[in-house]
Amino acid sequence: DSASTAKLEIEPDKVSVQKTTTPKELIPSEELVFGRTFTDHMLSLEWTASEGWLPPRITPYQNLSLDPATCVFHYAFTAFEGMKAYKDTSGNIRLFRPEKNMARLNKSAARIALPNFDGESLIKLIGEFCKLEERFIPSSRGYSLYLRPTLIGTQRTLGVGPPGSALLYLIASPVGPYYPTGFKAVSLEATDYAVRAWPGGVGDKKLGANYAPCIVPQMQAASRGFHQNLWLFGEEEYVTEVGTMNLFAAIKNKETGQKELLTAPLDGTILEGVTRDSVLALARQRLEPEGWKVVERKYTMKELADATDEGRMIEVFGAGTAAVVSPVRKISWKGRLVECGLPEGEEAGELTMRMKNWIEGIQYGDEEHEWR
Ligand code: PMP
Repeated sequence: DSASTAKLEIEPDKVSVQKTTTPKELIPSEELVFGRTFTDHMLSLEWTASEGWLPPRITPYQNLSLDPATCVFHYAFTAFEGMKAYKDTSGNIRLFRPEKNMARLNKSAARIALPNFDGESLIKLIGEFCKLEERFIPSSRGYSLYLRPTLIGTQRTLGVGPPGSALLYLIASPVGPYYPTGFKAVSLEATDYAVRAWPGGVGDKKLGANYAPCIVPQMQAASRGFHQNLWLFGEEEYVTEVGTMNLFAAIKNKETGQKELLTAPLDGTILEGVTRDSVLALARQRLEPEGWKVVERKYTMKELADATDEGRMIEVFGAGTAAVVSPVRKISWKGRLVECGLPEGEEAGELTMRMKNWIEGIQYGDEEHEWR
């Protein structure tokens, strides 16, 4: 109805801008650490159940002041996004498929009774914000401005119910290449003693509550020398995803020998990665004509191990905004190491490299594409 549509409305033209009087010093590019330093400003939009979205504000980056009873602190009313702004060779600022992040944030928000918003208007505001913070966006390949839109419930109450007020804010952190000295293949530990997501749960939403419980298994994997843990699901030990990446496996089909690029389907337990979607689309366009088959289906850890044992394993990589693609060397599973097709001394397979170059080429505007 028109009342609820009105409540989605954001008014980008009404944005007020209060510029900082104490601009920060830029960190030299090579010293950038992910998510450690932030730009001069932040974008904020308050929402109330009775008024909808109030006029947007860009202000100096600053602390929030919230009552200790604010619902976000108690019941995890928080959803967020991770996206990047890139500078192309002509100095233009580009976003990569931002409408996907807007749609995902709206879905996440709706699941935890936080308000929805008009994504196109927020993209406009993000564009304004990025222009203001332009000096923080390094221009070399691999560098970008990581953008973190966050939506929290701000009602001051211990009552368990839908928040009557909310805050949507965006902060930004200049970041360097995930692999500054070129690709480094990672090793994963398959986690079978804990579950990240389950059917009917919220694993396909980007909720704060999905991340805190993942840290202990991540630390466990790290204590045994693995970079990340890989979440399995169910007695079948389906391969799902990594902490902040979707997973792709390239193997030869057991019966036909055809090369297949496999990834888990969006069955509600997998985050709908923007990179995942981009990898699939590019693979369908550019790899299928070369004889590859792109397959979204459930597959098990045993299938991967069999592929390795039978010489059918080609390569495995993770896909996410942070690293674009991340080559995987091996996966620890049931006391054995499943090798993922990388020869000793090599850090990335051919497919992983091609995929990275294709996606980065679009992100940095070397290739004109509707996604940029
Ligand atoms: N899975 C999880 C659990 C994640 O947190 C992320 C990062 N958003 C991804 C996958 C990759 O998603 P995207 O490609 O949109 O960054």
